[in-house]
Amino acid sequence: MADERTLAQRLLDGDRRALARAITLVENEDPDGYAVVREVYPQTGNAAVFGFTGPPGVGKSTLIGALTKARRAAGRTIGVLSIDPSSPFTQGAVLGDRIRLTEHFLDPGVFIRSMANRGALGGLSEAALQAALLMDASGKDDVFLETVGVGQAEVDIIDHADTVVLALMPGSGDSIQALKAGVMEIPDVIVVNKRDHPLTETMVREIRGVLSLAPQRGWRVPIVTTEASRGQGIDELVEKLDAHRAYIKEEGTLSERRRRNLRNEVLALAAARMRRRLEEGLKDDADFAKLLDEVVARRLDPASAATELLERTGADV
Ligand code: GDP
Repeated sequence: MADERTLAQRLLDGDRRALARAITLVENEDPDGYAVVREVYPQTGNAAVFGFTGPPGVGKSTLIGALTKARRAAGRTIGVLSIDPSSPFTQGAVLGDRIRLTEHFLDPGVFIRSMANRGALGGLSEAALQAALLMDASGKDDVFLETVGVGQAEVDIIDHADTVVLALMPGSGDSIQALKAGVMEIPDVIVVNKRDHPLTETMVREIRGVLSLAPQRGWRVPIVTTEASRGQGIDELVEKLDAHRAYIKEEGTLSERRRRNLRNEVLALAAARMRRRLEEGLKDDADFAKLLDEVVARRLDPASAATELLERTGADV
């Protein structure tokens, strides 16, 4: 215990190595990592958490690099957490080296970390969220969460941000479809990066069209165009991010949003653990195998089988 206290204490004092070590522990689902989170949790909640999502290649890392530069110039400290997709076949993360962020690697005011999306039930979001909390506890003013894509897992993580940014580029029509279909919740800020592309205006118009269909209460979702690779439009983006933060603070929706996010987190963790327990308990369960045989033989439908299963395990829901 003495060591863990020391690690947590060092982390709270802003020690980078302690932060890196603690994140590795939670990434490995090490109970010592959870102990650190437990200890530092009361000291969290001070960082402004920004979530970035969008298809691969639109320039999220480049944008985050440019934003980091702007925020550092304003004297703020930054934590960046990239969630990388990994193939179930290679088990490795396509880390992409986050080349766009290399100029910040030596800056003690910036902490950058990539995590592999292992796709494990609950595992990814649990570890990523804990890592974000650890960055917060270590005193970072801004935490940037970056995920690829607009799939459910990504959205779940992004949901834990105070401000959600969707990055698109001219021609990325799929994401507009996802917005339109309601697969993705309307973000707080939309960035159309690569504005050096001739179809930028068309893209902006299309997005406006989709937004006009969605009910917008209070906050009007701004569409910012940027050319991240040349640092263009970044000041405006910073302005919009600050404006959104000021808005949610004023309206009291920041605490509301955090409460909702934390509620989702507690439920997700509980559900993941219940499922794990259920699966473990059923691994060599002959009765369950028989029940499944009935379903396979089409004598029992899946929903009735689930009811029977839950009745048997005493978790009647
Ligand atoms: P991510 O996968 O969304 O993180 O995208 P990256 O930040 O890795 O960028 C993908 C590619 O787009 C890289 O080759 C960048 O140099 C390039 N890129 C980023 N921003 C811009 C931009 O504003 N204009 C153009 N033309 N290319 C850009």
